[in-house]
Amino acid sequence: GATIGILGGGQLGRMLSVAASRLGFRTCIFEPGADCPASHVANRHIQAPYEDERALRDFAASVDVITYEFENIPTSALDILEALKPVHPDRIALRVSQDRMVEKAFLNDLGLQTAPFAAVDDPADLARAMSEIGLPAILKTRRFGYDGKGQARIINPEDTDQALMDMAGAPAILEGFVDFTHEVSVIGARNTAGDVSCFDPGENVHEGGILRTTTIPARLSAAQRTDAVLLAGKILNKLDYVGVMGVELFVTTDGLIVNEIAPRVHNSGHWTQQGCSVDQFEQHIRAVAGWPLGDGSRHTDVVMENLIGDDMDRVPDLARDPAVSLHLYGKAEVKEGRKMGHANRVITKP
Ligand code: ATP
Ligand code: MG
Ligand code: MG
Repeated sequence: GATIGILGGGQLGRMLSVAASRLGFRTCIFEPGADCPASHVANRHIQAPYEDERALRDFAASVDVITYEFENIPTSALDILEALKPVHPDRIALRVSQDRMVEKAFLNDLGLQTAPFAAVDDPADLARAMSEIGLPAILKTRRFGYDGKGQARIINPEDTDQALMDMAGAPAILEGFVDFTHEVSVIGARNTAGDVSCFDPGENVHEGGILRTTTIPARLSAAQRTDAVLLAGKILNKLDYVGVMGVELFVTTDGLIVNEIAPRVHNSGHWTQQGCSVDQFEQHIRAVAGWPLGDGSRHTDVVMENLIGDDMDRVPDLARDPAVSLHLYGKAEVKEGRKMGHANRVITKP
C-alpha cells in the first residue's frame, strides 16, 4: 500500500495519521521533537530538524505523497521535498498563507473583503499606518503567528511603544479592528480532480486568542451561509488547491470579512469527527491521495470544546457523559495554554 508523509507531529498530524491508517495507508511523520502526539500512532517517525537535508531525502524516498500539519515549513525544506515527491497543498498555498501581507493582498485581488491593513517595519511606518487605518487596531507579526501569539492591540496612540516591543523587530502588519458580531469558519476541501466540498460553517469563540469552542450550526442567514461556502470555493479554485483548508471569517453587518486562511486541517473542523460520516482528516487524506472526496454533509449538531491546560482535570467527568466523544492527544506534560485534547458534544435533535 501507499505511504503518506506528514510534516509535523502535533495533534493534527496524529489525527491525520489515524485517518490515513483507517483508509489502509501507512504513515511516516517528519518532526524534530521526540515524544510528539503523532509519533505514538504513525508507522514511522523521522526525528530530525528541517535543515537536515539527508533526513529530508530519506523521508521523501520512503513516502508516496507529502502533506503537512502546519504552514511554517521552511522554504529550503520544501525545495528539497518538492523535487522528489508531490507535496499537497503546494508551495503557492504556503506562500500565500505564510505571510499576512501576501495573504490579504491575495484575498483582496479575489474580490474578498479583509480588515484594512498596512505593512509596519519601523515606528515611522506604524505612525503612518495608524493615521491611515485609525484606532483601535491590531499589530501582528506577518509570519509564524498562531493562537494569537505575536499580536498587540492598540487602543490609544500611547500604546505604540509596547506594541512595537511585543513585535521585537519582526516584520509586522497593522490591521484595523473589525467590529464583528461573531466569528465563523469554513472548512473546505478540493481534490486533484478539482472537486470541491465544504463542511457546514461553524461558529467559533476565542479566549485570549485561542480557540475555545466551535458550535455547529453557526448563526448565519441562508444568504450568509451561501456566501461563506462560495468564497471558500473561490479561494480553493484560485489556488488550484489540493487538500483541506480552514477559512476564518468575521461576521459583520456589512457582510463577511476574511480573517485568515490555513492550508491544512483546522482546529475549528474537529467537530466533523462526530458530525459527518467523513471528517476533515479523512477528507484531507482522500484529497492528497488522489481519491474522490467523501460525504461531508452534517448529520448531527455538535459543540466542540478544546481542552486546554488544566481543563484536563475535567476528563473523568467528561468520560462519564454519554453525549461526549473525547479526543486526547497523549501529550506528556500539561501546560497553561497548551491544547491537550478536545471534547465533541453531540446535540441530539428531537
Ligand atoms: P490561529 O492561527 O491560531 O487562528 P493567529 O495567531 O493567526 O491564530 P488571528 O486569527 O489573526 O490569530 O487572531 C486571533 C483572534 O483575534 C481572531 O480569531 C479574532 O478573535 C481576533 N482578531 C484578530 N484580528 C482581528 C481584527 N482585525 N479585528 C478584530 N479581531 C481580530
Ligand atoms: Mg493564524
Ligand atoms: Mg486565526
